[in-house]
Amino acid sequence: MAKPRIGIFKFTSCDGCQLSIFNLEEEFLQIAGLTEIAYFQEGQDAPDGNGFQAWAAHFDLAVVEGSISTERQSKELLDIRENSSRLITIGACATAGGVQALRNWADVSEFKASEYPAPDAVEALAESTPISAHVHVDYELWGCPINSAEFSEVLASFLLGKTPGVPGYSLCMECKRKGIPCVLVAGQAPCLGPVTRAGCGVLCPSLNRACYGCFGPKDGANIMALMRIFQGFGYTENQCRMMLDKMNTYKFREMEEKG
Ligand code: SF4
Ligand code: SF4
Ligand code: SF4
Repeated sequence: MAKPRIGIFKFTSCDGCQLSIFNLEEEFLQIAGLTEIAYFQEGQDAPDGNGFQAWAAHFDLAVVEGSISTERQSKELLDIRENSSRLITIGACATAGGVQALRNWADVSEFKASEYPAPDAVEALAESTPISAHVHVDYELWGCPINSAEFSEVLASFLLGKTPGVPGYSLCMECKRKGIPCVLVAGQAPCLGPVTRAGCGVLCPSLNRACYGCFGPKDGANIMALMRIFQGFGYTENQCRMMLDKMNTYKFREMEEKG
C-alpha cells in the first residue's frame, strides 16, 4: 500500500514551528518511516534549487508554516491547496498572520524605509495574512511555536481520519488542573490566560509570570471583558492594546470586532 504523501511548506516565519517537528526526535523518525515526506526544505541537507516546481504529484496532507506576505507566496499557496487533499496550518504565523501582521495597522512603506537601505527592493504586500484568508484550511494548530506533542496528535489524526484531540478551551482550565496559583487574582498581573487557548503546558504562570497569549485566542474568547478587568487594575486602553498586539494580533482583533 502506498504511504501517505506529506509536504511541509514554509512562508513568512522564523522556522520555529518546523523545528518543533524535529523536537519529536525518535517519534519524527517513526513518522518519516510510516509516511512519504515528499517536500520539507527545512529537513534537507541542501536547499532545493527547484523550489516549489519540484512537486510533481499530489499530497495527501500539506502542512503549512508562515503567513502570506508577498504576491509570489499567495500564488504558491494556491498551487499547494490545489495539489493537496488536506491542508493544516502550524503556528501563529500561518494561523493568525504572526507578529509580522502588526504592519496591517501601520504603513508598510514606512517600515521598509526605516529598516532597509534599498526599500524598493523589498517585495512585500501591505498586509501579512493567515493562510485561511486565502484558501480553505482543514485544521489550524496554534502556538508560537507549536507544541510538538499536539503536532504529532494532529498528524496521526489526519492520517487515521479522526478528529484531533487538541483542546480549544482556555489556558486557565489547564492552569487550575495543575493547581498553579493565579497570578491575575493573587497579583493583579495582566494574564491573558482566560482568553488564550490551552496547549503550552502553562509555561508562564508556572513560573509566576502572566501569559501573553502566544497560543492565540481560545474558542469564543471574551476579550473586551478581560480588558475591562485589566483597566480596573490601572492599565490604560493603549497598554491593553499592546498586550494583545503580538504574534496573534490579527485573530485577537478579529474577535474583538465580532464582540
Ligand atoms: S509561529 Fe512563532 S515559532 Fe512558529 S514560525 Fe511563526 S514566529 Fe516562528
Ligand atoms: S494564572 Fe492566568 S492562566 Fe492561570 S488561572 Fe490565572 S488567569 Fe488563568
Ligand atoms: S503561558 Fe501563554 S504566553 Fe506563556 S507559553 Fe503558554 S500560551 Fe504562551
